[in-house]
Amino acid sequence: MKDERLPPAAERLRAWLEFYDELGLTPLYRRRRSDAPASEASVPQRAATLPVPAAATFVSAAPTPPPLTLSLFEEAPPRREHESLEQIRAELGECTRCKLSQHRRTIVFGEGSSHAQLVFVGEGPGAEEDAQGRPFVGRAGQLLTHWIESLGLKRSEVYICNVIKCRPPGNRTPERDEIETCSPFLFRQLESLRPKLICCLGSVALQTLLGKSVSITRVRGQFFDWRGLKLFATFHPAYLLRNPGVQREVQEDLRRICQFLG
Ligand code: SF4
Repeated sequence: MKDERLPPAAERLRAWLEFYDELGLTPLYRRRRSDAPASEASVPQRAATLPVPAAATFVSAAPTPPPLTLSLFEEAPPRREHESLEQIRAELGECTRCKLSQHRRTIVFGEGSSHAQLVFVGEGPGAEEDAQGRPFVGRAGQLLTHWIESLGLKRSEVYICNVIKCRPPGNRTPERDEIETCSPFLFRQLESLRPKLICCLGSVALQTLLGKSVSITRVRGQFFDWRGLKLFATFHPAYLLRNPGVQREVQEDLRRICQFLG
């Protein structure tokens, strides 16, 4: 029921919130509150979290469905002309763009074939990866190598990388600001590679690429679209090491990947 105490703009804003809620698109937030225009910065906290397009100036009484900008970012990063992995690595440099640079030993950019048809995206480097500067070289990496070989491929024939390139202290989950800062480099790697299939290992990789909160347990084994490419979701090998009971699901997922790649 309409709340007569609310001013018209707030009433329309509430309608938008309800619309998002009905779509299940919560929680939503702005990337940095300080970036908000003054007119938006003054609205209450939850309202400030809406990814309201600049064009939405609340001139219509009816809540027009807004564009579904589900990304972690308010706008998709602009597409670039084709660039090589070497160019992307060079631009990353000795990166200090986020606080993870303070603790890392090595930037773990990614490795594999620049012509890979299959790309694996994990979460971030662990201790062994940080020491060696290579992705997936610890116990989970050995398991991933086993998965790759079970697909009839060599590790050197695929490409392996992570959402973030520097090890979080204590192997904690990467924080949102770290993912926001680092993931554009992942997107550029994927745009450069444009593989037949991107396999997300675990929820951080999947949520970063889909740009929304999803449960890996619920959506594993499914294919998604990402910028004209196919995305697939499965568990992170480290999760399987901790939960051997999901072995059968992982085998099913590997079978699906194998079928997809033909
Ligand atoms: S995690 Fe990414 S953005 Fe942060 S310092 Fe490392 S390379 Fe830079």
